[in-house]
Amino acid sequence: MKETISKTEDQWKETLSRDQFIVLRQKGTEAAFTGKYYDHKEKGVYLCAACGQELFSSDSKFDSGTGWPSFFKPISSEKVEQKPDLSHFMVRTEVLCSRCGSHLGHVFDDGPAPTGERFCMNSLSLDFKKEEDSPEG
Ligand code: FE
Repeated sequence: MKETISKTEDQWKETLSRDQFIVLRQKGTEAAFTGKYYDHKEKGVYLCAACGQELFSSDSKFDSGTGWPSFFKPISSEKVEQKPDLSHFMVRTEVLCSRCGSHLGHVFDDGPAPTGERFCMNSLSLDFKKEEDSPEG
């Protein structure tokens, strides 16, 4: 069975910054070109900023030109949930962390090969864990 994390919104407020809370828990969107990861090119893994689950590898990151960190796939499909989002007079697919249910961004079908998908994420929804320079052992 999959491990999930369930907290009240008051509990999330204690662990998240105000801006993170607005995006992760209230489905906000950061302004384009303002986040810390849209132009971030280090090798490593992007984690859910709310619960720490590993979501995306830098190997699947690409420059979409949108001003948001963009990936053509998650580390595995179980890491994210996808849900229809009809808000703001648009038909979009919302992407949520499968472990804690926090909002990450949206996925679109205009991404590059090999998947054709574009996971358009908020930097505020992500943390980054840099790849170690030399493998252990
Ligand atoms: Fe999470």
